[in-house]
Amino acid sequence: MHTHAYGAHASDKPLEPMRISRRAPGAHDVQIDIAYCGICHSDLHQVRSEWAGTLYPCVPGHEIVGRVSAVGAHVNSLRVGDLVGVGCMVDSCKECADCEAGLENYCDGMVGTYNGPTSDEPGWTLGGYSQHIVVHERYVLRVRHPESQLAAVAPLLCAGITTYSPLRHWKAGPGSKVGVVGIGGLGHMGIKIAHAMGAHVVAFTTSESKRAAARELGADEVVVSRNPEEMAAHAKSFDLIVDTVAAPHDLDALLVLLKRDATLVLVGAPATPHPSPQVFDLIMKRRALAGSMIGGIPETQEMLDFCAEHGIVADIELIRADQINASYERMLRGDVKYRFVIDSATLAAA
Ligand code: NAP
Ligand code: ZN
Repeated sequence: MHTHAYGAHASDKPLEPMRISRRAPGAHDVQIDIAYCGICHSDLHQVRSEWAGTLYPCVPGHEIVGRVSAVGAHVNSLRVGDLVGVGCMVDSCKECADCEAGLENYCDGMVGTYNGPTSDEPGWTLGGYSQHIVVHERYVLRVRHPESQLAAVAPLLCAGITTYSPLRHWKAGPGSKVGVVGIGGLGHMGIKIAHAMGAHVVAFTTSESKRAAARELGADEVVVSRNPEEMAAHAKSFDLIVDTVAAPHDLDALLVLLKRDATLVLVGAPATPHPSPQVFDLIMKRRALAGSMIGGIPETQEMLDFCAEHGIVADIELIRADQINASYERMLRGDVKYRFVIDSATLAAA
């Protein structure tokens, strides 16, 4: 099947309308009519080959929601008409210890929703800035939010799970003090989810203008990280800090805010490294510096169900396909509260 899509032909070219093909659904495949797709900062990193290795044409998009339009003969869990989501991966080896553990995101054979190896044309995966996608049933999530919230559910498929997973792994909850650094797509979800888990949430932002907005998202306190006195007031007090910032920055300023045995988790993936942290800040209090990548499929379903139960969705700005390039520029300026979501119906007109 052919479908309308939006993608780039080179790292220095804007995205433009294109037609791509999708395979006919195999026995275990689910075909989805995409209703909405979020714009993640990773899309921008990858379209511009900031992480190197991008294959062109590149059709980004891994915050996909829509409706099942066909299923293969062996698909039992989903039916035509079901509301579903697809996140950052569409395949993995299904056999290794990580896959067995439901941590397909850490499988060496994990196939990203775009720019991943596949036997489908053109030889690498093409993502959700398109009207249809065909995905193995294992990587298709069920959406239990009301349909009226569907566009705002899309960002949960990446921004939601990428913050939910470390919050769960490092046991955020009642009695814990959790920092969320960077109030963008990921960060605003991190604040909402950590708040719903019962943690005391402190938002760190470089933008004075987000101070009040962060409180509305559920932060108990807000720190403007450019202000050293505000930072110092939180020294040695955090159980966990989740850092979502998309650019290199000083990690020491955050490490010194951790208690003994507490952890700074990096989820932001800047194109160039952070300056190396001071070893003494780590060893003095047995502090840990960690990373985390999205989440496994069972945990992604758990996150979607948790968010449905707690009435959590993203704060979004719905856009037309012909606004994608301008949205990238606005995202770079931090000029979005807090996620752009593409109305997939507008791809055909673009
Ligand atoms: P985003 O919406 O652009 O938000 C990033 C936030 O970081 C900004 O809103 C800003 O928050 C802060 N920031 C940006 N540039 C900064 C700078 N130069 N100095 C200090 N703070 C800065 O991006 P996103 O979609 O949330 O993605 C964030 C990062 O996570 C990206 O690198 C993305 O590739 C990565 N990511 C990783 C995973 C994973 O699995 N680990 C998954 C998805 C995305 P303030 O204005 O509040 O300071
Ligand atoms: Zn993403």
